[in-house]
Amino acid sequence: MADESTPIRASCHCGAITVTVPGLPENINHCQCSICRRYGAAWGYYKPDEVKIETKPDAVTKQYIWGDRDVSFNFCDSCGCVMYWWPLQPPPADGGEYKMGLNTSNVNPELLRFVDRRYQYSWVKQPLRSKETAHEDDLAKY
Ligand SMILES: [Zn+2]
Repeated sequence: MADESTPIRASCHCGAITVTVPGLPENINHCQCSICRRYGAAWGYYKPDEVKIETKPDAVTKQYIWGDRDVSFNFCDSCGCVMYWWPLQPPPADGGEYKMGLNTSNVNPELLRFVDRRYQYSWVKQPLRSKETAHEDDLAKY
């Protein structure tokens, strides 16, 4: 069985992109912000320098960058799977937290059975256009 020290691999549906991380995530966050809930992403968090990303020679990774441009969302141009988000800012000078998000929906689900899952529904219950939840560049309309 996988644990915190057994590498796990995420693969997009067509196999063009694989992401390898050193072990199981501490937990899996089903983030309910306006972008992540649309992706249906299930994020596990890692330090960027412990993540290995491989793409096949003719594979194309597309990016979606919006709002404060803090992170890029990266997906396979061929099969459309959202693979990871990546920080666009340099690491904080004070050595503070610096992380990326792996979409664990692309990982063998058998390996993730015992990882805690978090749903932050407080995001959803608040008005879409409240100052606390919505970014002015969020153009989504229901
Ligand atoms: Zn693909």
